Amino acid sequence: MRSSTLRWLVLLASILIMLIMGVQLFWLKIVYSFEQRTFNTNVVKSIRGLYEDLDIVDTHANHLQDLIEHPSTDYFVFRVENIFEEDSIASYLQHELNDFDVLTDVYVGFYHAGHTNYKRTIYIPTVATRYSRDVNNPNIFKRDYNYVLLFFPHRNRYVLAQMNFWFISSALLFIVLIGLAVILFFFYRQRFLAEVQKDFVNNFTHEFKTPLAVMKISAEVLLQDKITGQPERLKKYATIIESQTQHLQDQVERLLQIARSDRKDLPIQKKPVRIKDLIEQAVTKMQPLIDEKKAEVETPIDDDTNIELYVDRAHLELAVVNLLENALKFSVKPHIIINTGKEEGNIYISVKDNGIGIEKKYQKNLFKKFYRVPTGDVHNVKGFGLGLNFVKRIIDAHHGTIKINSLPGIGTEFRLILPATVNN
Ligand code: ADP
Repeated sequence: MRSSTLRWLVLLASILIMLIMGVQLFWLKIVYSFEQRTFNTNVVKSIRGLYEDLDIVDTHANHLQDLIEHPSTDYFVFRVENIFEEDSIASYLQHELNDFDVLTDVYVGFYHAGHTNYKRTIYIPTVATRYSRDVNNPNIFKRDYNYVLLFFPHRNRYVLAQMNFWFISSALLFIVLIGLAVILFFFYRQRFLAEVQKDFVNNFTHEFKTPLAVMKISAEVLLQDKITGQPERLKKYATIIESQTQHLQDQVERLLQIARSDRKDLPIQKKPVRIKDLIEQAVTKMQPLIDEKKAEVETPIDDDTNIELYVDRAHLELAVVNLLENALKFSVKPHIIINTGKEEGNIYISVKDNGIGIEKKYQKNLFKKFYRVPTGDVHNVKGFGLGLNFVKRIIDAHHGTIKINSLPGIGTEFRLILPATVNN
């Protein structure tokens, strides 16, 4: 499966997982409203039952509904004319509430028309009450008629407790979905690593195939019988083998160095270093490639620029070598300028080329391990995609930053910016 298809599938699966979670939350909300409505209906049914049990109003039964009010969520008020039967009202009410499955504590208040407080309040706990009785006194609702108040102090908790099954099933569903998301993440990462590995093996093969082929041809020439009579030719092919072996050896050494440094933090040994010397040394190291590419490399640093920094010389030099090597590799007729100077209290080292440039959308990935700007399956410029990652690690170890300035077809500038801890 191509990685872009895989990415879309993973995105789709993540959206589906979020959608299922959203739908589940929506259902929970619906169930909560339903449980609330059921509770209210059962309370009203209990009050109607009470009206039928006791002769506390004279009104015709058809209008019973008009005698019941629901002034706020936890409160119900129902009109009574005969309020002298407080204890029997409370006891019948308890039965009715039990019959209609309203199994939570209730405060019953008896109100006489026009008064500012209840004449009497009775707290009726449920048999196995789990909640504290220490609740606020019920609110008063001023009316010009007698009424009985029902206040359910733990109503909300009770309604939520009715939803236990839903909570448990939702929690299980969420756990399963989160588990799926984690599996998806690891699957995607595994696939990504597998692809990175595949790219690396491809690059590795390309990097080693050409020198090996050249060495094989040279060896075949050397094996010809007549070669002993042609010392010039013999020397030429032996030199080719020697230089290709050296190239392979260098590559292996670089890979090993990166692999070794990968396991732990870079061991940084800081010393005062003249940046101009460091740059010149890096250019000298790259001289064979500069000559091969017939490149023009300028270092317009005048001798007075005596910037001295407290850095790890070997590592920083390697960083400049890597940038210079890239500038040479990714330019057709390389014209490279390496410079240094001060910038907003920091010291910078810049390597600027006139090469193929890097599109903006690829720039953020450049420092990732094994990353190479995609060029289809064309491997005309060799490499492992490790150089810039290594440069970044070196600059990170010096608490610096890297800036890229690049335009496709025009060229690229990499700017290493280091804090000027020791300089003059
Ligand atoms: P490598 O050069 O081995 O491929 P690097 O990590 O050094 O790996 O670079 C990663 C990628 O960044 C390169 O493959 C190339 O696509 C791009 N790149 C780096 N430097 C330049 C440059 N100076 N000009 C154009 N592209 C560059």
